[in-house]
Amino acid sequence: MARVTVESLRKEYDTGSVVAVDGLDLEIEDGEFVTVVGPSGCGKTTTLRMLSGLEQSTSGRIRIGEEDVTDVHAKNRDIAMVFQNYALYPHKTVFENMEFGLRMSTDLSETERERRVVETAEMMGIEDLLEDKPDELSGGQKQRVALGRAIVREPDLFLFDEPLSNLDAKLRTSMRAEIQRLQRELGITAVYVTHDQHEAMTMGDRIVILDGGELQQQGKPTEVYENPVNEFVGGFIGSPSMNFVDVAVESDGDRLRLAGPDGGFEFDLSAAYVGRHEDALDSSRYTLGIRPENVSITDKGAANSITATIDVVEPVGSDNFLHLDLSDEFIARVDSDVDFDPGDRVTLTFDEADVHLFDSETGRNVL
Ligand code: ADP
Ligand code: MG
Repeated sequence: MARVTVESLRKEYDTGSVVAVDGLDLEIEDGEFVTVVGPSGCGKTTTLRMLSGLEQSTSGRIRIGEEDVTDVHAKNRDIAMVFQNYALYPHKTVFENMEFGLRMSTDLSETERERRVVETAEMMGIEDLLEDKPDELSGGQKQRVALGRAIVREPDLFLFDEPLSNLDAKLRTSMRAEIQRLQRELGITAVYVTHDQHEAMTMGDRIVILDGGELQQQGKPTEVYENPVNEFVGGFIGSPSMNFVDVAVESDGDRLRLAGPDGGFEFDLSAAYVGRHEDALDSSRYTLGIRPENVSITDKGAANSITATIDVVEPVGSDNFLHLDLSDEFIARVDSDVDFDPGDRVTLTFDEADVHLFDSETGRNVL
């Protein structure tokens, strides 16, 4: 296994008219499971293809272990890649599919290769499928074979490109758990790409968020959830998405006052915020961010409360999502034990610690 270092990695397509990856810096520790997430077209696949050597970078360096592999051909990098579409050889059996890569990339004897394939197949629970051809297998079985084929080679680095996207929700959940188990047991270094923030948050030791080919933020899932560096990350991570409301910000020295549109509400942040953040408060437009799960409904006319009208009540099992008329899409996630109806006027409140404040021009989190 190996540590991976990426420095100022850049990829242009079509002679520079498309910048797919724009100056990416990353360090992946030996044995770490890093998830890379972002919307479609943000450069995830291009990043993986450069790591694997399938795509040449326009500039920047890639190091795997001690070796600078930037100019090393894909077949000479000790990397396994698992794709969404499985990429199995249709005319080969499961055994042959798994054994083929081993034959290409190692000089093990036939007996040794067979031993490793059978051992891996047992670990993956596919030992009964070894004589089958891919078109006799279900989607879940094919993905297991694709994983087994990658694992049997014991490569330095595993790259996953949305490997579970073709599976149904239940199978996806169990395969996620299985990939994590294998990763831990085998001490694999892995980069796992997905567009699904839930998958990225639940699987990664560390999560890397891309948008428009640029690194937005990286960190432990809880850190990124609690301290998004900008409005994009705040909105992308978490479901339902963070609520955003335009606010005006005023400081009177004792507190920071956030005022809603058309004088709709006022929310005061205590003195602790004033000194700490004054330097960052140099914009003329701000956006308040608050997560649906951090909004609560109160029946007291507490200070720092906001009144709103319920547009829609969306039941989701143990919780209700209350859609409120504070902004285009403002949701409070509340316990479904309490009955609410569209048209009800409610009073909301939230902890100041859960409030995010973004500069509306740059998107930067200023708190
Ligand atoms: P993701 O995997 O995050 O969806 P990609 O890495 O596939 O994103 O693509 C990043 C950007 O690069 C997109 O704008 C995409 O259209 C462009 N792109 C990807 N591959 C090519 C290519 N072979 N030629 C030209 N543009 C490409
Ligand atoms: Mg992709």
